[in-house]
Amino acid sequence: MKAIRTRFAPSPTGFIHVGGIRTALFAWLVAKQNNGKFILRIEDTDQTREVSGSIEHIQDSLRWLGIEWDEGPGTGGDYGPYVQSQRLDIYKRWADKLIQAGRAYADPYSAEEVQSFRDQARANKQAFLYRNHRPDNPKPWDGTTPLRFKSEPGNETINWHDEVMGDMHAGPEVIDDFILIKSDGFPTYNFAHIVDDHEMQISHVIRGQEFLASMPNYLNLYEALGFEKPVFATMPHILNPTGNKKLSKRDGAKDILNYQKEGYLKDAMINFLASLGWNDGTEQEVYSVPEIIDKFSLDKVQNSNAHFDERRLLWLNGAHIRELDIDTLYEKVASYWPKNIPEKLDNDDYKKRVLTLVQERLKFFEELPELTDFFFFDLPLNPELLSGHKQLGKMPTQELTQLLQTALAKIESTDFETDKLQASLNELLATTEQKPVVLFSLIRIATTQSPASPGLAETMSLLGKDKCLKRINEQLNAIG
Ligand code: GLU
Repeated sequence: MKAIRTRFAPSPTGFIHVGGIRTALFAWLVAKQNNGKFILRIEDTDQTREVSGSIEHIQDSLRWLGIEWDEGPGTGGDYGPYVQSQRLDIYKRWADKLIQAGRAYADPYSAEEVQSFRDQARANKQAFLYRNHRPDNPKPWDGTTPLRFKSEPGNETINWHDEVMGDMHAGPEVIDDFILIKSDGFPTYNFAHIVDDHEMQISHVIRGQEFLASMPNYLNLYEALGFEKPVFATMPHILNPTGNKKLSKRDGAKDILNYQKEGYLKDAMINFLASLGWNDGTEQEVYSVPEIIDKFSLDKVQNSNAHFDERRLLWLNGAHIRELDIDTLYEKVASYWPKNIPEKLDNDDYKKRVLTLVQERLKFFEELPELTDFFFFDLPLNPELLSGHKQLGKMPTQELTQLLQTALAKIESTDFETDKLQASLNELLATTEQKPVVLFSLIRIATTQSPASPGLAETMSLLGKDKCLKRINEQLNAIG
């Protein structure tokens, strides 16, 4: 069997968002599970769109996710260089072969002339085809004008197979004489990627749907060049969360490295990206990376569009966080703790205990301060927590005070070991004949000044008796 070689071929036009990185992931997965090679190639032939720093940014994004490439810029490999602007001589060589074979010619027209052909076709209600204006005796190509492919559409339907999209076909009328090399000396994507995929012995071309319509043209060029065709796999679009529009920056298509900054786990991100279009046919949702490598297959990638749903990513991230052992999690959240923690609480033991309590609820690391600050600081009294509470908000002040005083008396005489505290809180429920949502919310608000916390007994036990009593007293004064 032919060696499996897949590639990710981004253009350095800015950051990569989820759509781009998903293509990279799927190509990487195919290589990984077949003992193949994954190649990173930079497609920078449209120099007007280049954004400086993009290549490093793309590489950082891939590295964060552990999508390591076997060959690529900086890394090297037997088929380099891996940046298209450094391969101009290679494209020139193949262009010359096409010229010699009578399959490429110098474009004699100015942009205005081509436009007038286009207008004329529109006036006649016909599709514009450049090849209808192909010059009879083109001048030799000197590099100052575009070089065009001389297509041979024939009369037959063009058929091809796509691993994801299935059996495809198109009529020969879509084939045209496209530009191979522009007048600035750079090849077009249409030409360069085919040459590179051949030269780099790419076995699987895995890419976005925007290139699907050009396939008949590409197939015509493969034939003209005498290249063996790779396997094609076209990724469906990723749509915005609700509508049917392609995911845009406004809908949350942000730089993948932002998620790293916000404290998402790379494994959760991979899990999320893989699930955009792929599932293994079971109900399973949470996968480890080795499991995905093991189970992924192109023929299980759906050919319908996937919806980007950031809430799902958040949920998956929480699920992956819950699976981490506490020491690993502790290491990962090191830079996310609240700032200026008082010295006597700023120690591994206490922070690990805090983390153990919030692990269950933590969805991404940047929310760690919000979830834990009351473990480190006495937060200012927040009257809205009571007034805005569904049940407590309706209780008369006197009743609130009385309830909190009863609670205070009980808590004062309680051992703060979690089990004992829990037993006392339960007794308190019985004696006050209150619902947990009333009694426990009140104590929670008093002791944490937060709308939510981990289990009340665990939280209070970790805060310690002195702090809890002090905070309850302060709340009592405030209600006053
Ligand atoms: N350079 C193309 C892009 O960034 C890549 C397409 C391909 O993978 O062939 O969209």
